[in-house]
Amino acid sequence: MVQANYYLQRATLHNSGSRHAREGYGKFQRKETNKMSDDTESNPLLKKMDSQILPDEVLEALTLKRRYAFVNANFMALLRDEEKSFFNKIQRFCLKYERKTMEPNGITHDDDFYPWIKDFGAKGYVTRGTNFDMVDVDYGSKYGLTYEFFRCLAVDLFDPSFNMAMGATVLCINPILHHHENRDAPLKALKELVTGQEVGCICITEPTKGSDAVHLDTVAKRSEDGIRLTGVKCYNTNAPRSKYAVVYGTEDPAAPDSDKMMSQSLVVLPDDSVKVERAYIPWVPRIQIGKETFNNTFVPNDRILCDVGKGKYGLFEGLVPERMGIAVLDIAEAWGAFTHAAIYTNIREQMGKEIIKHQGVGFLLADYYAKISNMTLAVLSFCREYDSLVKQFKGEIPGALTQALVVQASQLKYHCAILSERACYELANLMGGAGVGDNTLMQDLLGISRIQEVVGGTRQIQQYIMSGAIRKLWKMS
Ligand SMILES: Cc1cc2nc3c(=O)[nH]c(=O)nc-3n(C[C@H](O)[C@H](O)[C@H](O)COP(=O)(O)OP(=O)(O)OC[C@H]3O[C@@H](n4cnc5c(N)ncnc54)[C@H](O)[C@@H]3O)c2cc1C
Repeated sequence: MVQANYYLQRATLHNSGSRHAREGYGKFQRKETNKMSDDTESNPLLKKMDSQILPDEVLEALTLKRRYAFVNANFMALLRDEEKSFFNKIQRFCLKYERKTMEPNGITHDDDFYPWIKDFGAKGYVTRGTNFDMVDVDYGSKYGLTYEFFRCLAVDLFDPSFNMAMGATVLCINPILHHHENRDAPLKALKELVTGQEVGCICITEPTKGSDAVHLDTVAKRSEDGIRLTGVKCYNTNAPRSKYAVVYGTEDPAAPDSDKMMSQSLVVLPDDSVKVERAYIPWVPRIQIGKETFNNTFVPNDRILCDVGKGKYGLFEGLVPERMGIAVLDIAEAWGAFTHAAIYTNIREQMGKEIIKHQGVGFLLADYYAKISNMTLAVLSFCREYDSLVKQFKGEIPGALTQALVVQASQLKYHCAILSERACYELANLMGGAGVGDNTLMQDLLGISRIQEVVGGTRQIQQYIMSGAIRKLWKMS
């Protein structure tokens, strides 16, 4: 009870322009607009290199170029020639981008990264999960989950927060890709999102409905000319910066079969009937996560992606690439942390020798080396297998096989999310103060790795899926 009162008190303070708000503490939280402007500069949590602690030679050893070199040495035996040239090409782009953008200082990684998406999109680096020939975007042979793995790894080493935000645009792209039906409005959205001209988000979660994503409270009422949405969504990555939002709702939330009345709509922002606020998640201060209130928002027929009754199918069809997207992100974060720690512990000396030579450091580092490498092999092998199935079945993988892949994707997402969190924490620990300070990207990795188990279905939901699969297999055998 005391706790609840405390929270209410804080909320009142924020809404009434409190001392905190006046001093900048709550500045960005109180902004309420349809499309938020750049507010990162008012965020005191975004400090980077407030004062330089690490000597120049250590910072020099930790540059993106040196980190790429370390990762490349590790991936040498795993990469096929085409993959290698693709991986190196993105690395060259990121290196140049980090140096040249926002001259004279280059990127400092406390900057607002949303404008970067346009530049990455122009190069075809927003997503490589599939080809987009329907909007004249052709990656030749360089697309699929395996290429997406290498795109993600290269971009994540460059800037993990930026990579995660760009990944959320892909969650908006996938349903449009599946349900555009050659209509102008969805195709326009698809092109703008894939090429990075605009940002997108997906709105499933609600303040009272999270894991139970098939029993939503948002009303999606059908009429002859379209759907009207009324309800509240939350924790939607990128929403305050998005032009496009894919939104789920149901005709009748009170109906016992409300899940069978779900729909999937494409909303274009800003829209006077949609209020967008920022929902601040302290572990990822640079990523703009939103709360959206839909007040009788009209979606015309040509922007309905899954009509009433088909929304649940739409929700499930993207599960494999979505879960694998998170697994790949987790692997990339683990490599980011491992690379920092491996370089640092080879340079840093205590008690007369490099700290990697102290068993307490070297053995733990070796333990994570094995864990990260093994999970990398598992994820990469899934990606390659998935790509060959997509090819074999011309994009239409049969239902039973898809079911098996959903479970495998859950298994990988489950383990990779745990690995990312543990690896980033333990490897930061091995770097001592340098690992937990603001002089390197370990700061971002520590935060971002802590939300991986929650996003894309929590740890318990993955366990729920896996235990259901075990039961099914037992019954079948
Ligand atoms: C940084 C961030 C970004 C996000 N981005 C998006 C986004 O872009 N779009 C979007 O729609 N959502 C997004 N989410 C929301 C995210 O998907 C949900 O937070 C998540 O699905 C869990 O829902 P919830 O928070 O309501 O928790 P709840 O569902 O209330 O779960 C609370 C706890 O109960 C457990 N639990 C719930 N049901 C069961 C069960 N049946 N068995 C066992 N345990 C159970 C959960 O595992 C969890 O531990 C984001 C969240 C975060 C933190």
